Amino acid sequence: AAAVASHRAKHAIAVSGRDPPSPITTFEEASFPDYVLSELRAAGFPTPTPIQSQAWPTVLSGRDVVAVAETGSGKTLSFLLPAVVHVNAQPYLEPGDGPIALVLAPTRELAVQIQAEAAIFGASSKIKSACVYGGAPKGPQVSALRDGVEICAATPGRLIDFIETRAVSLRRVTYFVLDEADRMLDMGFEPQIRKISDRIRPDRQTLLFTATWPKEVEGVAADFLHDPVTVRVGDASL
Ligand code: ADP
Ligand code: MG
Repeated sequence: AAAVASHRAKHAIAVSGRDPPSPITTFEEASFPDYVLSELRAAGFPTPTPIQSQAWPTVLSGRDVVAVAETGSGKTLSFLLPAVVHVNAQPYLEPGDGPIALVLAPTRELAVQIQAEAAIFGASSKIKSACVYGGAPKGPQVSALRDGVEICAATPGRLIDFIETRAVSLRRVTYFVLDEADRMLDMGFEPQIRKISDRIRPDRQTLLFTATWPKEVEGVAADFLHDPVTVRVGDASL
């Protein structure tokens, strides 16, 4: 308990919610399978970042998580590595049936970057990923989805288009991530997020990542997450 308190204090990690697990201090402690650890070693990172140290054990335990940490603090892998584990933990499913892990992001650039990391860290376990965003032809995105997809990074508008035209089904989604939630709300995506969330089974795991914690984000977290653990790193006023 003293080690946990000192790790959290040293890295300015504040945790709230029911029974949060202890943070980890090394990649090995996170109990990732070898196919994830090998990719982490290849990336050459020295240690988990503070948000990863608390988010990984919490997400891997199956809890909903709100993570508030500044830009550049390693939030992407905080949700992507457990996404890879989650996908691999599913029993056999028919291919071509839509994503198991769905990540919503505010911009095309961000969605592309998330999928690129999913491709790298999911490579050794043959994870199939796809990216869905507006302002580009639909054909290639539709074919990528038809080829079978396990992790999908998407902007809300184009995803709704694909849901309505049945280019994608969300019936397999059991891991739902809102990345850069503060920016998505600033850009007016709340109605779209709500619509997408309503299409996903209610017993999914839901994660919300944000750099800031305004009232609007707090409201969305209260609406979409179930009994979450909230992890905040850095300035307590964020
Ligand atoms: P955020 O989403 O919080 O803005 P990112 O997830 O984009 O941050 O990460 C920022 C950078 O840090 C990326 O280049 C990423 O590869 C790198 N990174 C991720 N995890 C670690 C780590 N444990 N150690 C060092 N660098 C890391
Ligand atoms: Mg990010």
